[in-house]
Amino acid sequence: MTQDQWGQIKQDLLKTVGKNNYTNWIEPLELCGIADDTATFSVPTSFLGNYVSQNFGDLILYKVSGLAPTIRRIDFQVAANSTIKPSAQTRPTAAPARPKQATDTVLTSAPLDDRFTFDSFVVGKPNELAHAAAKRVAEGGPVTFNPLFLYGGVGLGKTHLMHAIAWELQSRGPALNVVYLSAEQFMYRFVQALRDRRMMDFKEMFRSVDVLMVDDVQFIAGKDSTQEEFFHTFNALVDQNKQIIISADRAPGEIENLEERIKSRLQCGLVVDLHPTDYELRLGILQSKVDVFANQYPGLQINDGVLEFLAHRISSNVRVLEGALTRLYAFASLVGHEISLELAQDCLADILRASERKVSIEEIQRQVSEHYNIRLSDMIGPKRVRSFARPRQVAMYLCKQMTSRSLPEIGRRFGGRDHTTVMHGVRRIEELRNQDDQIAEDIEILRRTLQG
Ligand code: ADP
Ligand code: MG
Repeated sequence: MTQDQWGQIKQDLLKTVGKNNYTNWIEPLELCGIADDTATFSVPTSFLGNYVSQNFGDLILYKVSGLAPTIRRIDFQVAANSTIKPSAQTRPTAAPARPKQATDTVLTSAPLDDRFTFDSFVVGKPNELAHAAAKRVAEGGPVTFNPLFLYGGVGLGKTHLMHAIAWELQSRGPALNVVYLSAEQFMYRFVQALRDRRMMDFKEMFRSVDVLMVDDVQFIAGKDSTQEEFFHTFNALVDQNKQIIISADRAPGEIENLEERIKSRLQCGLVVDLHPTDYELRLGILQSKVDVFANQYPGLQINDGVLEFLAHRISSNVRVLEGALTRLYAFASLVGHEISLELAQDCLADILRASERKVSIEEIQRQVSEHYNIRLSDMIGPKRVRSFARPRQVAMYLCKQMTSRSLPEIGRRFGGRDHTTVMHGVRRIEELRNQDDQIAEDIEILRRTLQG
């Protein structure tokens, strides 16, 4: 493909994507090399490269391969001081020779997920503080707290919020060099720089970013030289008043094997946590996802009560919740009928089982003895009178059903009874459940209380 042909394709793209998109995203692309089956374009920022690749990549490749059938891939590389930074995957041999020492002076961000924006982030009590802090940083005003430290359990939205900040900062200031990396990627680049004896470049690269985000920083705990380098990078950027945003799965003070001076540095800014979701937030998230699915699967009905059921039963984390809904839609569209409660129970049995609250043998014993109004010691003790023996069997039955303990283990916890005794008790209750409404009801009530 020649520059002329690329010019032609650009004109063609202008018609397809419209004036605005063209000016923002296509115009800045420069064809800078063809090697084998790859056409390489230089872009002014990694953000632009990521955005174009995600949103127009297929279209551009389609047009390019129309004129130049040998091209099967396109690649975007950040231009630094009008020189081209070779990417790790492809080094276009046809590209004009570039001065070696000028390469790698611009740090490229890891790709951002275009679904992770503020628009798609549902705010509720458990995450409102973290959201507000993220919003504030995303405004890009004077740096007021540095770093912003976000922490919380798996799947609660840390990465989502960080990407949202990056998107927003970039759209407000396309020239800003916003770099998002996982702590693992930070380490990887550090180790690579060490290996290639290019530590000066590495330092310079990191010190020239405008906003640095490091996700899952707990990863560098125990990795001494990476921590050391992180600490220096961090300090250099703070000194230049550059915004830093960090996430971790726990509070700075609770990350084991992290140097004290780093912990205290991390606590200097604003530390906010994402709390576990509550029912309302889960329901809100599900509702917002249903709006998205409605476009994807037009005409697919979801019955009343299904979302409430999911929000109630799947409390582990948002990722699992989303996964459940995705599977439900895919399944319902395959079998071609509406999403009912039965379908949900059927098709999500494994997820529902996994997120059932874990109950302990002690809890079961305590609840059962309370329910039947007997003493815990009598439930566990040797007395065989019916008024103790029946509750004991109910408790054994629930232990078998609701925990993953083996029969011998359960026997041990009921005053050292033999596993055959437990088995007998479990069988007895299984029989009685079908014959005795009172027992069936007791079990239902107990099971529900235990599940919380
Ligand atoms: P973390 O980084 O904390 O482990 P993620 O940010 O990767 O979690 O979130 C997991 C998934 O849940 C993502 O798909 C994300 O979009 C979604 N998610 C989490 N919290 C929310 C929220 N408040 N609103 C919408 N989606 C959310
Ligand atoms: Mg994450």
